[in-house]
Amino acid sequence: MNIKFLSVFIIDLIDEVEMKYIVGNWKMHQNKKDIENFFHDLHLSKNDKCQAWIAPQILHFSLCFNLAHEIKIGAQNCHEKNNGAFTGEISALSLKDMGAYFVIIGHSERRTLYHEGHLLLNQKIHNALNAGLKVIFCIGETLEERQKKQTWHVLSEQLDLGLKNINDDQWGNIMIAYEPVWAIGTGVTATPTQAEEAHAFIKQHLKRKIAVLYGGSVKPDNIVELLSCPNIDGGLVGGASLKSSDFKLLYDACAS
Ligand code: PEP
Repeated sequence: MNIKFLSVFIIDLIDEVEMKYIVGNWKMHQNKKDIENFFHDLHLSKNDKCQAWIAPQILHFSLCFNLAHEIKIGAQNCHEKNNGAFTGEISALSLKDMGAYFVIIGHSERRTLYHEGHLLLNQKIHNALNAGLKVIFCIGETLEERQKKQTWHVLSEQLDLGLKNINDDQWGNIMIAYEPVWAIGTGVTATPTQAEEAHAFIKQHLKRKIAVLYGGSVKPDNIVELLSCPNIDGGLVGGASLKSSDFKLLYDACAS
């Protein structure tokens, strides 16, 4: 192998391993004015160690594209099919067509409130990947499952069934978000030890190098400790991603 090729390969590998991500999930929050203020006040210094991604409501896509520089814009959900008579649904192909970079699939709110099961999530993932989107696949156990010591079983099942038949070319477009359900929007964060243990488990289970983000009450005052864990590659953030000052602190922690 020639030296130039080898060094490019090694640099790519280091980038892939060291890149961190702060992903804001805005859910059904933020109005037009909030978004204008958010981007007006947000000044992220460009760096090559951290990427900022945001998933606004679909209606706010073009507003975000116009205002967000250096931030990748994605969606919070998509349908498992790309077109047809599905009133009110969102096509992955249309998302891609409109400039979306990624889609979040399997968020616990989708699993619980909209009863999205393993098979459906697997179909959505395949559809999104085929449309050319990156996928953030969310998994996580409930408090009851953790207390019953079922965490590893739950995570294994979510990974095996949700990611069934993913081929080697597609893995590079998938990230996992480990989001213990008991930590989402509750103010209770998994301890760095709990989170690290779960992230290490996920990587071992998948037997591949893959970015695993932590989600569940991530805030500026706990991000540094979480990110100091070797298997935590960033955060999927709800509440604390809504304020530009907090989002900047999260990004800066990631970039440093
Ligand atoms: C989320 O919605 O994915 C999330 C982690 O929310 P929060 O940061 O508010 O707990």
